Amino acid sequence: MVFENYIHSRERTRNTKRYIAFHESGHAVAALVFGIHFRDVTIRYNNVSCGSVNGLGESYYTISAIISLCGPISQSKFENKNELEYNSSYMDIDDAEHAINGLITTLKSIKYKNGYRPCEKKLYNDMFTSALILVNSNWDQIKCISENLLKLESDLSYYDCVTLLLENGLYDSMIRPELPKLEGHFDQYLL
Ligand SMILES: [Zn+2]
Repeated sequence: MVFENYIHSRERTRNTKRYIAFHESGHAVAALVFGIHFRDVTIRYNNVSCGSVNGLGESYYTISAIISLCGPISQSKFENKNELEYNSSYMDIDDAEHAINGLITTLKSIKYKNGYRPCEKKLYNDMFTSALILVNSNWDQIKCISENLLKLESDLSYYDCVTLLLENGLYDSMIRPELPKLEGHFDQYLL
């Protein structure tokens, strides 16, 4: 979940830092919603990226795609943009597409048995819709993590995030969006 190419300068304005904080918090809260652990979320600049969620645990294709998409969606919501800023998020979009391709590969061996053929475009749109719902319905949580990343100026571990959300009464109110549905009995592959 690398946030890169957002700016080329080492000088980051306070506003840019805020975009990065909302981007990374989008990934982090999505992971928290699904209980996928990560080592830390950071908005510190290094030579590779402007911020990142590190040590993210393995998850199924669908959840992995949604976590990838929640970063750019959260950033766009913060910036009041209707479209994703591709330049700052192409790696996340690539990650989501890779996850969807992985799912399609899994389905390939069985898809013809009942005539069902997964459509990549539809799957992507469905994942995007779930990610959008996740960001919109957990916006208070994303704001809380963002504000603390900016205020504390230190990395936050998975448990730091859980603690912050609990302290602010936001942990139990996290909302897990419905996952996209496949036709017939293929839902099991979207767990
Ligand atoms: Zn990202």
